[in-house]
Amino acid sequence: MASPDQHNSIESSPQSNIGTPQLFPRRDFLAYGAMVTLLDGTAASDTECLSPPSPSMHNHPDMTAELKTQIQHGFNKNPEKWLEEHGKEFDACFDCSNDPVTEVVVLCIDERMLTAVQTKSGVRVLRMAGSGVLFSKQPTEDLEIEVLADSYARYIRELAKQSGQPVDSITLKITSHKTCGAAGEKFGETSDDPDESARVYQKKLVAALKKRGIRAEFTNDVPMNGKTVHNTLGTIFDLSGGRFQRLPMTKETIDGKERPVSLNTFVVSPTEDGKGVEDALLSLKIASGSHSYGEQLPQYTFLALMNSDEPERSAKIIRELTAGVRPYEAKGIKVKIVTREAPAVKK
Ligand SMILES: [Zn+2]
Repeated sequence: MASPDQHNSIESSPQSNIGTPQLFPRRDFLAYGAMVTLLDGTAASDTECLSPPSPSMHNHPDMTAELKTQIQHGFNKNPEKWLEEHGKEFDACFDCSNDPVTEVVVLCIDERMLTAVQTKSGVRVLRMAGSGVLFSKQPTEDLEIEVLADSYARYIRELAKQSGQPVDSITLKITSHKTCGAAGEKFGETSDDPDESARVYQKKLVAALKKRGIRAEFTNDVPMNGKTVHNTLGTIFDLSGGRFQRLPMTKETIDGKERPVSLNTFVVSPTEDGKGVEDALLSLKIASGSHSYGEQLPQYTFLALMNSDEPERSAKIIRELTAGVRPYEAKGIKVKIVTREAPAVKK
């Protein structure tokens, strides 16, 4: 088994996202601030294009060919059937071992993040927009960092309790990535280099976590899959507390040819459910926004990974998601919310 330190070397994934237009440099697809507006049903507009401004930014991509390709993936054609056929491969993406957790990695929800090729025992992966830079809205950045640090600390302490291990036996590794739209949203107006501002933010967060007795590290930019536009038609909402580590590679028939491709979705795996719902709706906003499919978006799938022993929690999240997608459905987008029970931890 790979050592925990190798987990961040997740660039080795041959996550071949099908069809990858390389149209223009970008930083801003993870636009966030207009979400409330969008939940009112207002169409996405160029106001979501975040700084730094660039003329090329407004040449929005022609997604016609991309849509034709993506829609051929079995998950997008019929998620229930696909999950039935690939349940084993899908469930293998969860850490079902009973090993004590020693490492938690935080990644952005962005589908351009690479994930590990193999599931690793004793590792959890959290997925939050900008690795948490948009997590809390407070009058000052210092206060925001305190709120976020509290949330991570609660999560880590609970994990330690479940594992019966000391809190400092778990290392929390917080990542960043280049051209992060969440960082652009957060720092674009005040910084010439929002990615660097996000790194500074995460370093302050690590200091706040250390004060709380959490063994935290900022591990800097992680590699991405090379795509420049968002081309996903779905989001996975992980309610297993980060046991869902990676995306499965399956054989799909695209344009008449069968080939292995990675499931291509945003992944939301929050420390708190409410934030997860926000991030999940944000992903649909991006897909239906002017930096992805825009008005062309015909459909979108949410897959919520549930725990059977928490029916009320699951029901609440489904209710909130269902309400949140209504404005998109009103625009003619067929939104499907599918659930699957996360596989249990082996005793
Ligand atoms: Zn990001």
